[in-house]
Amino acid sequence: MRATSASREYNLTAVTVGRRDVGEKDMLLTLFSLEAGRVNVAVRGTKKTVSTLRGATQLFSMGECLVVSRRGSDLLTEWIPITSFPGIKTSLEKISLAGYMARCATELSSVDHADRGLFHLFENIFFILQSNTNYDIMKLIFDWGFLETSGQAFSLEHCITCGCNLDGMKRVRIDVAEGGLFCPECSGGFDLNDSLPVARETIEFGKEISLIAAAMRGDRLSAGDAAEVSSAINSAAAPALKPVAAKLAGIVGRFMQYHIHEKVSAWLVKL
Ligand SMILES: [Zn+2]
Repeated sequence: MRATSASREYNLTAVTVGRRDVGEKDMLLTLFSLEAGRVNVAVRGTKKTVSTLRGATQLFSMGECLVVSRRGSDLLTEWIPITSFPGIKTSLEKISLAGYMARCATELSSVDHADRGLFHLFENIFFILQSNTNYDIMKLIFDWGFLETSGQAFSLEHCITCGCNLDGMKRVRIDVAEGGLFCPECSGGFDLNDSLPVARETIEFGKEISLIAAAMRGDRLSAGDAAEVSSAINSAAAPALKPVAAKLAGIVGRFMQYHIHEKVSAWLVKL
């Protein structure tokens, strides 16, 4: 965040993830930003057709903002549009997934606290979602990336207890409450109330998902890199991988629910 102490203005690159009317003419927006995480800003005179700020009041619009800090809520004074993600608004499934991610960004990210990795993951999935229809895989990538950026993801390589390398090991188990994978030896010696067997192929598939999420967390993808990531998503969505993708999605969903927010699983509107 760039701030000058005299004017107390700052710039943000942000996506509008929430909006509500305040009185007749003003609005309060929730922005998810690169520089400061979740930020609430007031917008004045949004009903004026000439207002350049109207673009900011559309849900899922992305732009460069100038914000003036005030007592109470900060004020949006300039909005230079980047994109309104028109491709997302073409289908209810896309809007539903975008809405889920926006809700995660709104309810799970902290106010005025930058999480650059999460922001890039969010914007890159939004860009790719416009032309890709593999919603289950994109949700899985978002959830896994969310767990990783919040430090709650589990290692796909090592036993959570003894740290041994799980490569090629069979009879690996996962315990959601304990927060990770257990090698056969450790799972035998533990009282695991909540443990489930995890197939080798599920772990390997998780590594693919983790790689795709990592590619999206680094920076805004160029068109070429986005096309590559999109085709990796298509490969992960191959019909033969459906059962293993569903297994992983079940585990990751339970992790999100247990370690991040108990209601998160209800936030995706199933169509
Ligand atoms: Zn172990």
